[in-house]
Amino acid sequence: MRKCSFCGRSEKEVNLLISGITGCICDDCATQAGEIVKENLKSKKDDFHLDVLPKPKEIKEYLDQYVIGQDEAKKSLAVAVYNHYKRLQHLGADEEVELEKSNIIMVGSTGTGKTLLARTIAKMLVVPFTIVDATVLTEAGYVGEDVESILSRLLQETDYDPVKAEKGIVFIDEIDKIARKSDNPSITRDVSGEGVQQALLKLLEGSVINVPPYGGRKHPEQKFIQVNTKNILFICGGAFDGIERRIAQRLNTHVVGYSAVENTARVDKNNLMQYIAPMDLKSYGLIPEIVGRLPVLTHLDPLGKDALRRILTEPKNSIIKQYVRLFELDGVKLTFNDDALDYVVDIAVQYRLGARGLRSIVEAIMMDPMFEIPSKKTKKFEVTLDYTKEQISKANLNVLKEKTE
Ligand code: ADP
Repeated sequence: MRKCSFCGRSEKEVNLLISGITGCICDDCATQAGEIVKENLKSKKDDFHLDVLPKPKEIKEYLDQYVIGQDEAKKSLAVAVYNHYKRLQHLGADEEVELEKSNIIMVGSTGTGKTLLARTIAKMLVVPFTIVDATVLTEAGYVGEDVESILSRLLQETDYDPVKAEKGIVFIDEIDKIARKSDNPSITRDVSGEGVQQALLKLLEGSVINVPPYGGRKHPEQKFIQVNTKNILFICGGAFDGIERRIAQRLNTHVVGYSAVENTARVDKNNLMQYIAPMDLKSYGLIPEIVGRLPVLTHLDPLGKDALRRILTEPKNSIIKQYVRLFELDGVKLTFNDDALDYVVDIAVQYRLGARGLRSIVEAIMMDPMFEIPSKKTKKFEVTLDYTKEQISKANLNVLKEKTE
């Protein structure tokens, strides 16, 4: 009589018996075996492979495939991530020199690639990673999310395993939104300002935080999970609108003495962001302690015409490549003429739509063909300058502008 070689039950006692060369397995045992395999593979995957680390240059080369320009920010990120891995490798080792973490802050106008950089680097990371938005954070007790919710997100990424979360990386976007609004914090309660910064400071400094696993205060009965943030790497990003004015002021007031003329001549007024210094962040409203806990300060350059033109076609998943692929799936060969693409960039610059606007413009151009071509027998579609102009003249660019703001 055929029997399951694992549980010994006979064919009659089970729903299904699968035969192998030398034995059989029943449906129950097969399911159970499947679960065991899944669990084991999962825990294997969760052990971070820190033995073969990508070098900073390799990390940057990877970023180069998706993000145009922004070399300085890429380098800082690559070095920070690499050092983070190295620190993790040597955790607990009895070393004389303790490797401290260096959190990063990236400053750059909106739409210059901060989030894109974070998302791209996330794809190659071997440690847990999450992106959180600082705009939702408020002081404890107010409507909004507590700062601890940042760690809830990281915990979610690790299936609520604090040991793994403690080695992760957190990207805090829009950090400028928690800047103190006025120089005198005592006039009104600054719900989203200084109180939040103080709470955030605790995270950045490294302390043991009680984290509500499911975020927020909606589940008062839930147990807290303790997470030590000492080894979590924080990367912050923010647009710091108008900070260029402060930088300019500082540069002007600082260039005194005999070298004044020389220094002013060297200042590139089109890209003041590159001169950003910690004191500018303080004067913008970040408390000095926070600035001190973000020792690596890097900037993103404004995107000029050349960068926008490259963004259209060069990244591995550029907008143009995506459209070509979409049409290819319908068996249609889509091409864009160079002068048509130049025109798209001109419009983006003229209407100050930035990199985000490029997609909206191309979408406006492609709406009609995307609607019509699938029902036609056409096998080729060429986007010419004339066609581009015609489609754009039909589109409402003011609507596009709003969409990208
Ligand atoms: P930020 O976070 O700085 O406001 P994002 O990273 O969200 O800006 O950029 C918005 C979009 O613009 C991205 O999704 C991407 O399509 C495009 N983009 C912006 N900067 C770049 C860049 N340097 N290289 C390639 N694409 C970019």
